[in-house]
Amino acid sequence: MNCPLVIDGKIAAAEVLGQVKHDVEVMKADGVRPCLAVILVGDDPASEVYVRNKVLRAEECGITSLEYKVGSDTSQAHVLHMIEVLNEDAAVHGILVQLPLPKHIDESVVLQAINPQKDVDGFHSENVGGLSQGLDVLAPCTPTGCMYLLHKTLGDLSGKHAVVIGRSNIVGKPMAALLLKANCTVTILHSRSERAETICRQADIVVAAVGRPLMVDADWLKPGAIVIDVGINRINAGGRSRLVGDVDMESALTKVSAITPVPGGVGPMTIAFLMRNTLTAAKQQTQSRAKSEASCLSIS
Ligand code: NDP
Repeated sequence: MNCPLVIDGKIAAAEVLGQVKHDVEVMKADGVRPCLAVILVGDDPASEVYVRNKVLRAEECGITSLEYKVGSDTSQAHVLHMIEVLNEDAAVHGILVQLPLPKHIDESVVLQAINPQKDVDGFHSENVGGLSQGLDVLAPCTPTGCMYLLHKTLGDLSGKHAVVIGRSNIVGKPMAALLLKANCTVTILHSRSERAETICRQADIVVAAVGRPLMVDADWLKPGAIVIDVGINRINAGGRSRLVGDVDMESALTKVSAITPVPGGVGPMTIAFLMRNTLTAAKQQTQSRAKSEASCLSIS
């Protein structure tokens, strides 16, 4: 077997971000500057780091970023009010509420309040429904990033058997929908699945999104499989803390034809596709505004 390819997510993310930056410049020349508003409720240190990175990346792409940081005791009504104001603001194209939210706030109520056209995380049920119908909607960033890596590595995915391990709304389910849209035969495994290892061993493509360190090893994999490892797990090994995926990379490398590392695989893609979704949202809103202005003119 040829030497397996370690898929570099940093290079792929730089490609995506470079294209976004170029398209943002073109939009700016036409008088529109894409804008992303991020709401952070509370002071969870990990969330603060994620938000800071999103804001920095937006600025690098020429996207305006607005950061709204409110205390952990902020009421749900106030968060909904903030979203309402941002929904109404024509200069804001994307709205992101950093998860998780404090316990007294109902996450699904908040996500449903975002205008689906500005829902750059792709979590609103209108976008979730559209994705399951195979429509071109704003889809969640991590699975979209995984699809980019798969197409870049394999080209056409038609007819491949893809196994997705994990069925969360954020990764597993949208990942399966995107693979189906790309004409894969899709199997989803979850915590109640029987014979998971045997089923996984039939897959041409494995996407692991579980959150269990090093769960998938060579025994789970068919020779020549392509593995996308979404998991991010912190473990303590040999007295030091390090990040690992859901896949035991060292073991998997004896079987796979290509695999994403952790870190440096899927991670950088998520933020790159958040920027691309913001750009897409800005383009779509600008076009639909131009269309409705044109139809107003033709009526008057
Ligand atoms: P969730 O905890 O929401 O979902 C985990 C899924 O794994 C569930 O569907 C669960 O099944 C399934 N599962 C648990 N144990 C097993 C098992 N033994 N066999 C098969 N399936 C199992 O996690 P997320 O989807 O949010 O995230 C998954 C991982 O991806 C995490 O490590 C997270 O940190 C990472 N992540 C990485 C991102 C990135 O940018 N790289 C972005 C988002 C997440 P059930 O439904 O039955 O409980």
